[in-house]
Amino acid sequence: MLARAMGQLALEPSDLRRTSTGGDGRLRTYAPATGALLAELQITSDEEVRQIVARARKAQRAWAVLPVDERAQRLLRLRDALADRADELVETLTRECGKPRHEALVQEVTTLLDIIGWFCKHAPDTLATQHLALHLMKHRTSEVHFVPRGVVGVVSPWNFPLVIPMGSVVEALLGGNACVVKPSECTPLVALKAKDIYDSTGLPEDLFGLAIGYGSTGQALIESGIDYCVFTGAVETGRKVAAACGSRLVPCTMELGGKAPLIACEDCDLERTARAVVFGGFANSGQVCISVERVYAHDRVYEPLVDRVRALVGELRQGDPSRDHVDVGAITSSRQIDVAERLIDDALGKGARLVCGGHKLTGGGQFFEPTVLADCNHTMSVMHEEIFGPIVPVMKVMSDDEAISLANDSHLGLNAYVFSKSRDRARRVSERVEAGSVVVNDVLTNYATVEAPFGGIKHSGFGRVHGAESLRDMCHRKHVSFDRLPAPGRDPFWFPYTARSFHWLQRGVRLVFGGGPLGKRIGGLF
Ligand code: NAD
Repeated sequence: MLARAMGQLALEPSDLRRTSTGGDGRLRTYAPATGALLAELQITSDEEVRQIVARARKAQRAWAVLPVDERAQRLLRLRDALADRADELVETLTRECGKPRHEALVQEVTTLLDIIGWFCKHAPDTLATQHLALHLMKHRTSEVHFVPRGVVGVVSPWNFPLVIPMGSVVEALLGGNACVVKPSECTPLVALKAKDIYDSTGLPEDLFGLAIGYGSTGQALIESGIDYCVFTGAVETGRKVAAACGSRLVPCTMELGGKAPLIACEDCDLERTARAVVFGGFANSGQVCISVERVYAHDRVYEPLVDRVRALVGELRQGDPSRDHVDVGAITSSRQIDVAERLIDDALGKGARLVCGGHKLTGGGQFFEPTVLADCNHTMSVMHEEIFGPIVPVMKVMSDDEAISLANDSHLGLNAYVFSKSRDRARRVSERVEAGSVVVNDVLTNYATVEAPFGGIKHSGFGRVHGAESLRDMCHRKHVSFDRLPAPGRDPFWFPYTARSFHWLQRGVRLVFGGGPLGKRIGGLF
């Protein structure tokens, strides 16, 4: 099947590096499935980045004064326009990323439409002023206001070039901010298409800006005076971006790499687990931060699981997704092919068994066979490093405890998966696994669970996207404290300090906070 689909490709001999170096001030983007040049774009200069941010700041002032429900109503126009032009988005995603059309439609376009709808519906309540009941200062009342930060900078990767940046754009705008996106150098056309659709809605054009270029353009964006940064990308880049934000005291969210373990307990549903391994490992050619990156299978299910996974991988059709309905498309960034080859060589050299795949496909295009490695162990780099490609390494374990301990033996902690027929068992395992999200008996669904926070622990980053709190993170929390009762001309806590006022204060402290029976009774009221 795989070979047949590949045979249908009209491949062009070309330099399959995804982009040029940009040394000439131009950025060239290529179709990874064919190597065809798709576009040549002008790189946004540092001065232009500053101008885009300045225009965004100006537009933001008028936008920020709109009530949240008015912002939400207007942003729903964007959802409608994106839905109306979903075909164009799918086409661009498929050509520029090499991802299958189903994935472009479901994982990118549909998820984005749902994110916009959910946030627009809930933003008025989420960002409504909070009134706090005060436990001690009964004579005062406090409010928490969610105040727009200003301009939010978004620096994004190539693997989900629509939903990742545009989800943040919508959250930023709902929060009353402007937003400037630096898309990945591998996928600028998807960002330009989204901007084109945004501009067609009548929303203020300068409120959402784009800066096209490489890492240095992202750096220029961070140095341009933005007020918040949402970065999604590799751990090593995240360190640099977080340092740049830190030196300017720009608060940031860091969405970095993952190494999701899938724990197959001895009582798992074998068929569902095998299909989950294949889908979770090879959707988007494994270029998903929450891909199944390692499997720990209990001794009792280990061999049948490996056998079933091998059979299912054999049914996958791989090829150019812009021509056929294939299951597995191309590798968007050629860098990941080098990583895959290195990790496979290392694993095989240390005793892993090649169950299937293992090779780059020849004949053109950036394709790598869906690869399964069995008999893996933690001496192998493939069990530690982020793969971000179509490889699933499998390791045998003898108990849930062993699986948990191996799952936690990682510097990353974005996602984890547990497969068991017992809810109690799955809960016990999920409570002990170190990750920002744990999904039981399913894969990849949690990014689309927009109500829930998404993000990592350890070196997978900090801060969250999605969920009510991430929308609030787009705003400052401003505390406004009001007087409730008529106040005397001089407050007893104000100057002058006297021996008498100190004496009464001491008695008051003992009464309210003291450990005696009276203190306990009175203190309990506060
Ligand atoms: P990358 O780190 O190479 O690039 C990400 C973005 O940062 C790009 O736009 C790039 O141009 C920009 N950049 C590079 N250097 C920069 C600098 N010094 N200053 C500012 N910007 C800079 O990542 P990638 O290869 O595009 O994406 C793959 C990585 O992203 C993987 O590690 C994957 O796990 C991670 N990822 C994480 C999530 C998540 O939600 N946690 C989601 C998707 C991808």
